[in-house]
Amino acid sequence: MAVLDHISSQEAMALENKYGAQNYHPLPVVLSRGEGVHVWDVEGKQYYDFLSAYSSVNQGHCHPKIVEALTKQSQTLTLTSRAFYNDMLGKYEKYITEYFGFDKVLPINTGAEAVETALKVCRKWAYEVKGIDTNKAKIIVCENNFHGRTTTIISFSNDPVARKNFGPYTEGFMKIEYNNLQALENALESSSDIAGFLVEPIQGEAGVYVPSEGYLANAKALCEKYNILFIADEVQTGIARTGRMLAVDHENVKPDILVLGKALSGGIYPVSAVLANNEIMNVIRPGNHGSTYGGNPVAAAVAIAALEVVKEEKLTENAEFLGKVFRAEMNKYIEQSNIVKLVRGKGLLNAIVINDDEDSDTAWNICLKLRDNGLLAKPTHGNIIRFAPPLVMTEEQLLDCVSIIIKTLKEFEN
Ligand SMILES: *Cc1c(COP(=O)(O)O)cnc(C)c1O
Repeated sequence: MAVLDHISSQEAMALENKYGAQNYHPLPVVLSRGEGVHVWDVEGKQYYDFLSAYSSVNQGHCHPKIVEALTKQSQTLTLTSRAFYNDMLGKYEKYITEYFGFDKVLPINTGAEAVETALKVCRKWAYEVKGIDTNKAKIIVCENNFHGRTTTIISFSNDPVARKNFGPYTEGFMKIEYNNLQALENALESSSDIAGFLVEPIQGEAGVYVPSEGYLANAKALCEKYNILFIADEVQTGIARTGRMLAVDHENVKPDILVLGKALSGGIYPVSAVLANNEIMNVIRPGNHGSTYGGNPVAAAVAIAALEVVKEEKLTENAEFLGKVFRAEMNKYIEQSNIVKLVRGKGLLNAIVINDDEDSDTAWNICLKLRDNGLLAKPTHGNIIRFAPPLVMTEEQLLDCVSIIIKTLKEFEN
């Protein structure tokens, strides 16, 4: 078999199972094409994408403007490393810092790398600006967080699957309950060595947990009171997903450090970023941090285009509007449903909680049936299904999706 020969779904899955490390458990569907809100499998069946690569493809699959930026730049100059200047990076840095209102950006590639970057910046700030004694700095994180998969990040995860047998773990983290301001204040009072508070404005992987109104604003106020950095991990919630450009915008919070990834490139290329003002970011000096591909000209061109699309196509407003429609329609159904307990979310980051044991496979089986009915979604922790379509969806398409979801759920009612 030549590498470029057409293969069936069965063959493609067999290859991945035989030759790939088994670090994922994909839904059995093999995709070969995407456009806007749709993807197609190798047999030509069409689906609505209700995962959007974990909220990376907010701008829709293969958005022509972003593809054009990628194509043009990749035929001109792709990589110089940061050993030299290039003529795209500065333009991108000006664009993204003005877009989000920060003095400086540190460009990097993936979400986990951006979180690592934020942790390093926060620690260095703690020693050089705040004045914490060497190697004493602590960063507060939340239970059930998801910030990526590096050794340091899994050190402060409480997911046994992510952690077990990957020790020894990185020190310097304190874990508190999410959505609990008292726990945050207690932690802040417990030590003068605290440097920062790292938080997801909505916990995505954990199952789309939306904190109580006021949590983020009050948490930010507490951070100010104790002179610690509020670090918002908006890798999943950012870039219009929740009906605001950033999820912290729902409470008018300006993070000290903002972490972006995923939809920063519209799913076209790995691009992530850490933003902060000078008094924080200036602690980073040559050699302190970097990545060969971080800030490459293709990433810069792609990210500018991806961010322009969000504004030009009013994706924030569309996510806000369609999210309300989605939850209203689902709530109507849930009133008379035994299989779904509730729907929650903001904008187009939503989840339904299935009425069954945490470790039952009902959510998985529902996702298999959704696939058969032409819609792709994936269960997340527990018996929860996340629904996060591309933000370029129309109301008509969304209502079509709602009827697919309801038709499918009805097959599981008893
Ligand atoms: C996906 C995600 C990450 C990790 O991003 P990768 O690009 O997969 O490394 C970090 N934080 C949050 C909140 C995420 O959803």
